[in-house]
Amino acid sequence: MSQEFDDNHTPNNDTTESVSEPVEHVDKGKRTFLKLGVAGAGVAAATAGGAFIAHKLEGTPMDDIVPPDGIAKDFKPMDQRNLILTFAGSEALNKKHPERKELFNKVLKKENPDHPEFDFRKDYKAMRTRPIRDEPGYTQLDKALQMSTMSTWKYVSHNEGNGQPGDGILNWDQSSVAKQKYKFDSKNEATLAIKSAARIYGAQACGIARFDRRFVYEPMYDMAKEETLSWDKDVPFEPKSVIVMLWEMDYHCIATAPAWTADATVAEAYTRQATGAAQMAQFLKGLGHHAIGAGNDMANSVAYGVLAGLGEGARNGHLIAPEVGCRVRISKVFTDFDFFDYAQPRDFGVKSFCEHCKRCATSCPSKAISFDDKPSLYPTYSDNKEDTWNNLSGLYKFHSDAKKCFMFWTQNGSGCAACIAACPYNKPDFWHHRFIDAQNVIAPGWVHSIMREMDIVFGYGNVADPEKVKKFWKRGSKV
Ligand code: SF4
Ligand code: SF4
Repeated sequence: MSQEFDDNHTPNNDTTESVSEPVEHVDKGKRTFLKLGVAGAGVAAATAGGAFIAHKLEGTPMDDIVPPDGIAKDFKPMDQRNLILTFAGSEALNKKHPERKELFNKVLKKENPDHPEFDFRKDYKAMRTRPIRDEPGYTQLDKALQMSTMSTWKYVSHNEGNGQPGDGILNWDQSSVAKQKYKFDSKNEATLAIKSAARIYGAQACGIARFDRRFVYEPMYDMAKEETLSWDKDVPFEPKSVIVMLWEMDYHCIATAPAWTADATVAEAYTRQATGAAQMAQFLKGLGHHAIGAGNDMANSVAYGVLAGLGEGARNGHLIAPEVGCRVRISKVFTDFDFFDYAQPRDFGVKSFCEHCKRCATSCPSKAISFDDKPSLYPTYSDNKEDTWNNLSGLYKFHSDAKKCFMFWTQNGSGCAACIAACPYNKPDFWHHRFIDAQNVIAPGWVHSIMREMDIVFGYGNVADPEKVKKFWKRGSKV
């Protein structure tokens, strides 16, 4: 039977207890849905009368990334050394902070006395060496697909995924900036030219934000040289604008999460994310401007996706964009060109939907995602500040404990993406899905709850489901 996380699912034999809490079943969803049947009629009525709000898919413009008071007085840009993947990838940082490992293991043992010892660096190194087994999603076939996309990503810029600045084709070289500056007649013409180029590179969406120092990594950290980099001293120009591009991942491949199969579309999108960012940077250089392409490195991608008006930050920590939900990767291109019609952050109704949904939280195998009813300025999973070193504190949002998420990845033998697969916004781009999404901006909370239950009834978003893996392999090249 499929369910959001199968309690028989064992990412590897020695970690069964830590990842196997039973969660919602489809049957339970059906019962809840039937109970809510009368209210469901209300949704139908809302849908029938919904044409007048179809334009809401565009969202409502906001003045800032979060409403007034959404940022604490002590908020400061994230130190990249506190990003989980940077920390795990750096030998020097692990030596400097042995207390982080000790404290995390103390928390794990408190929650489960039999929990095996965890080591950020050693377990990360062992992540993709987990043996294949006779289980859909973890066979030689799935492993071969996973490693095929990894094999090309690593030639492009493997380490940008870990936050490494200036890696591979995303290097900071500015020697090819054209001497002559191309002149656009208007900001609109320049904006459309950038977006047209993004479409050629294969981006699903593109928006242009003003450079905002609040959401950069400061300092950045070069894991290869084990040294910090600063925006003022090391970046070769003063950025004014950020081109943000989204790269879609395959719906049916993500649906196999957290199996190794899902890792394939993630790595493939990372490859496009890096090549597209490098191409856009080169385009700007060809127009006579300085530019640097980035993937996960240099700045918080979700924040920049919001600043560029492309979506909203969600409970699961991802950007949710209209049409594809959180099934996207994000690249950023920093440039000193500033003759644009800048985008504004927009309210698409996502945060309010997340308050009532929580489906990613119930589907998360490591229980890393917050179950809080409302977002908060600071993490709520621990009172101990030392335990929340990995969070961007002081920003009004749902705070996950990425340490737990990361630990699951290392046990699973790949990234996970179950919180993407489970999300009701993550659906193929059919007109009726977009129509329902458009209503979220004005729909009350009880409608959101029913929408969530309907997703469960119709089998959307179940994770750790072997049938989804079998279905993926039988699709062939059908989209
Ligand atoms: S990717 Fe991480 S946060 Fe998302 S469901 Fe998996 S373990 Fe949980
Ligand atoms: S699953 Fe629900 S709560 Fe989680 S991000 Fe998606 S809409 Fe928000």
